[in-house]
Amino acid sequence: MNAPASITITPVRVADLLTEGERMPVYVHVIDHPDARVLVDTGMTEPHPAVADLDPRLIPLSKQDFDLRLVPLTEQPVDLAGVDLVVNTHLHFDHCGGNHLFAGRPIHVQRRELDDARSEDDYTIREWVDAPGVRYVPVDGELELLPGLRLVPAPGHNRGMQVVVVETGGRPVVVGGDVAVWFGELDEPHSEGQLRVRALDPELVWLAHEHEPWRPRTL
Ligand SMILES: [Zn+2]
Repeated sequence: MNAPASITITPVRVADLLTEGERMPVYVHVIDHPDARVLVDTGMTEPHPAVADLDPRLIPLSKQDFDLRLVPLTEQPVDLAGVDLVVNTHLHFDHCGGNHLFAGRPIHVQRRELDDARSEDDYTIREWVDAPGVRYVPVDGELELLPGLRLVPAPGHNRGMQVVVVETGGRPVVVGGDVAVWFGELDEPHSEGQLRVRALDPELVWLAHEHEPWRPRTL
């Protein structure tokens, strides 16, 4: 099978959170595939009392802001209306807060994650998960979403985490959400998800809370 020739991945910074006295960025990722534009995670679009201590500073996930990406990697414009599919790596509040912007469009999430988000206390902001019109496609395990683009369960940070694996013709590129929150977690992997990602021998891994992609160290 030939890998699609041109899949591009664009990080879009949508918020900053305050954790342990430091500002932590929140990124979502736009994957432009020849067959569809896919958005991985949706960040957050408004403050909420439940997370006020994280002092979120929001960068609205709007068309204008997509066009003024803070971290432009490609020159092609990206707009919300053009998003065909949404993937949630998981449903913690900083990854699903913009789901309401995509009411009616399919949002792919692991079934286990959806169950946990709807049933566990203090797991997320539930009204953001089930915002009006939001329609989930529950996924059980691996799924080839598009040619060369598949969803892979990667538990650890939470049970229902999934990552997006993009075949590029060479080593794969991974959009990893919070499979690792910081680089050290991939340098020395521990969780099932981290080990699975490393076993893919990826060229690089985009994470939600790091500015740059993680790359394996070369000796
Ligand atoms: Zn996160």
